[in-house]
Amino acid sequence: MRIVLVGPPGAGKGTQAVRLAEKLRVPHISTGDLFRANISQQTELGKLAKSYIDAGNLVPDEVTIAMVKDRIEQPDAVGGFLLDGFPRNVQQAEALDQLLETKGIKLDAVLVLEVPEDEVVKRIAGRRICRNDSSHVFHVTYSPPKKEGVCDICGGELYQREDDSEETVRTRLEVYHTQTEPIIAYYKAQGLVVTISSLGPVDKITQRALKALKRDDA
Ligand code: AMP
Repeated sequence: MRIVLVGPPGAGKGTQAVRLAEKLRVPHISTGDLFRANISQQTELGKLAKSYIDAGNLVPDEVTIAMVKDRIEQPDAVGGFLLDGFPRNVQQAEALDQLLETKGIKLDAVLVLEVPEDEVVKRIAGRRICRNDSSHVFHVTYSPPKKEGVCDICGGELYQREDDSEETVRTRLEVYHTQTEPIIAYYKAQGLVVTISSLGPVDKITQRALKALKRDDA
């Protein structure tokens, strides 16, 4: 399956993406994770992306699209993928359509995670991620690690993302409403959108998502 996951910051996209990708046996492709890996490895791309990310703005389309193209063309993504955090504006959605069209493939679904704004703020304020792998995500009250500050999965140090500060979160929400939300209408016109509530226990949300994708047997 080829799926795009959409939702505001703090909707639980990363958490659900890891679980859904495993169930559906497709690679989880997170542009945020790819950027963070480039930043920690201090690549040219990482240096460029950092200032945009720290300010809560989008990294320019040209570099983002090139990075995704490169990733989608890796052998593990030939049979399908789950995109988390891309596309984030209509230009990126159009670029993705064009890229897939050149390969004669199409998206199967766009899964939208809905969550009220006050909940988003609570989730982000308590979010802690692992230095070794930013897909290892915890929350100080909602899903605390067994040992404070230590990743349950790999023992790495947990930290708060710089762009999870209150001021940056406000910018990210604004960017979501103005730039990312319009892609929902874009994909609705293609009949691809399925929407679920992202409230409740993590397992329940995964079940809801699989059901909405008609893959609850996965
Ligand atoms: P995320 O981990 O998905 O919340 O992404 C963290 C940050 O990475 C975003 O706030 C953006 O600055 C940047 N980013 C991630 N995906 C994209 C994208 N598709 N286009 C532009 N910037 C992105």
